[in-house]
Amino acid sequence: MRTVNIAIDGPAGAGKSSLAKAIASKLGYTYIDTGALYRAVAYKTLNSGYSPSDKDSITSMLLHTSISFRHINGNQRVYVDGDDVTDKIRTNEISSAASTVSAISDVRAFLLGLQRDIAAKENTVMDGRDIGTVVLPSADVKIFLTASAEDRAMRRYTEQKDTPHCVSYEEILSTMKKRDKNDSERAVAPLKPADDAIILDNSGFEPEQTLAYALQIIENRLNAL
Ligand code: C5P
Repeated sequence: MRTVNIAIDGPAGAGKSSLAKAIASKLGYTYIDTGALYRAVAYKTLNSGYSPSDKDSITSMLLHTSISFRHINGNQRVYVDGDDVTDKIRTNEISSAASTVSAISDVRAFLLGLQRDIAAKENTVMDGRDIGTVVLPSADVKIFLTASAEDRAMRRYTEQKDTPHCVSYEEILSTMKKRDKNDSERAVAPLKPADDAIILDNSGFEPEQTLAYALQIIENRLNAL
């Protein structure tokens, strides 16, 4: 059976995961959060006492690392060597470390098969940075979701301000700008829209408006196939 795959790429905090989840639930597809896989590698890196830029140690670490994911009640859970790390990978520290380890080509190669395998088996809505350009260059629909850095930082701040890991708006904005720079300037699979991606700038939009636009884009593309 041929599967249908929808790629949602874009910078941190653009609302990719909320949008991808909403689309998946509307269409009955599986939502895949690929950032969680890079976060899982970052988690093991820090736990092993390595610097996220220590390419050689991380490459050797991957030789005896297993990363997997599973969906439980529609929610993706991520496992490192069999341990569920889903709730431990959302800190600011892991965000920065994930951005650093993701620039290592061996890390990207290690996670590529995992992402392609699931897309070949199920209809997916996959969010990340390089889904439309590298992971699934033949995805049926590609959306590049973006918004101003200030809008994105404010959304992240609002999401986490009442949680135990909360940090200031200024710190989030600064980490976000650093991550955007790392992600778009790295040599392997940099963050950039695929040539055939539709760019959706949702600055100032409510999530429902973003969803309505995205569903329209998807309908138009799928009807044209
Ligand atoms: O999307 P999320 O913020 O969870 O991603 C964490 C980091 O993982 C990103 O900053 C990016 O460096 C990396 N990433 C990536 N390619 C993807 C998904 C995430 O390089 N497809």
